[in-house]
Amino acid sequence: RKGTVIITGASSGLGLATAKSLAETGKWHVIMACRDFLKAERAAKSSGIAKENYTVMHLDLSSLDSVRQFVGNFRQSGQPLDVLVCNAAVYLPTAKEPTFTADGFELSVGTNHLGHFLLARLLLDDMKQSDYPSKRLIIVGSITGNTNTLAGNVPPKANLGDMRGLAGGLNGLNSSAMIDGGDFDGAKAYKDSKVCNMLMMQEFHRRFHEETGITFASLYPGCIATTGLFREHIPLFRLLFPPFQKYITKGYVSEDESGKRLGQVVSDPSLTKSGVYWSWNNNSASFENQLSEEASDVTKAQKVWEISEKLVGLA
Ligand code: NDP
Repeated sequence: RKGTVIITGASSGLGLATAKSLAETGKWHVIMACRDFLKAERAAKSSGIAKENYTVMHLDLSSLDSVRQFVGNFRQSGQPLDVLVCNAAVYLPTAKEPTFTADGFELSVGTNHLGHFLLARLLLDDMKQSDYPSKRLIIVGSITGNTNTLAGNVPPKANLGDMRGLAGGLNGLNSSAMIDGGDFDGAKAYKDSKVCNMLMMQEFHRRFHEETGITFASLYPGCIATTGLFREHIPLFRLLFPPFQKYITKGYVSEDESGKRLGQVVSDPSLTKSGVYWSWNNNSASFENQLSEEASDVTKAQKVWEISEKLVGLA
């Protein structure tokens, strides 16, 4: 049978390119889990994804109710779940004030981390039941949350601190909107959310890999300087960022190529190792990359897991 893969945020950028690359193989049915149903349908059509190879299902990661509803709808559809790709993200580098999810969490961490955490925890049960030979849960990471890289050292750097803000619910009222309890900074909130994504992948691996056989992995797909992720950035940045990445840092990767990379992490028989953070070198060969000290800190991973369980209502 075909594999079934759920990809969050498949209406643009990396998620769409991955949906396309997997659908084209004829071996996958892609569930595009998107907040804007019409945009996702249009995107699928204009990228030429064949009708029988995808379904759009509504998911708004900035609402825990919506996450639970999505899981319910997916279960009702009666399909097995073989691979889950947590890809969607918001990035608000120029925001002066925090904005919040339906549940009152700062939007970047609330969407990128907490929404995905609840989704992945709930869908783990569905993946356990699948008889697919290589089940995988993939969480898209980033170099920017990784302070052992050049890009990860551009200020403001990711730093979860003692997580007093997260423990307080990131609501900007009786707690800070930032995980470390500091003043709001949109770029840092995004990087912090990506550190949480990478920590969660490893914590899933430690807790569930042996018992379930599921592969848990993360990746840095390269700098896809043309995606919507940078839509909130100032115009000059949006103009200069793609050529800068192409010619100066040489980290630039096209949306197509990034989709093939994530497609490999979903389905390539040689990428089954669990607990790994994949990257690609300039010849597009994959390798196991090292995470920064904070993004591989076992104690922090446990703490993020436990606080997040409380915030999303699992504990
Ligand atoms: P895009 O902005 O193109 O895609 C982000 C996707 O997330 C969109 O489909 C968007 O939906 C969706 N999304 C945003 N908020 C929600 C929500 N509340 N509920 C459901 N979906 C939501 O960016 P990219 O493709 O670049 O980003 C994809 C992933 O790649 C992210 O995890 C990002 O951190 C990561 N990444 C990107 C890099 C880059 O250079 N671009 C580098 C490293 C990592 P909509 O279409 O409705 O806006």
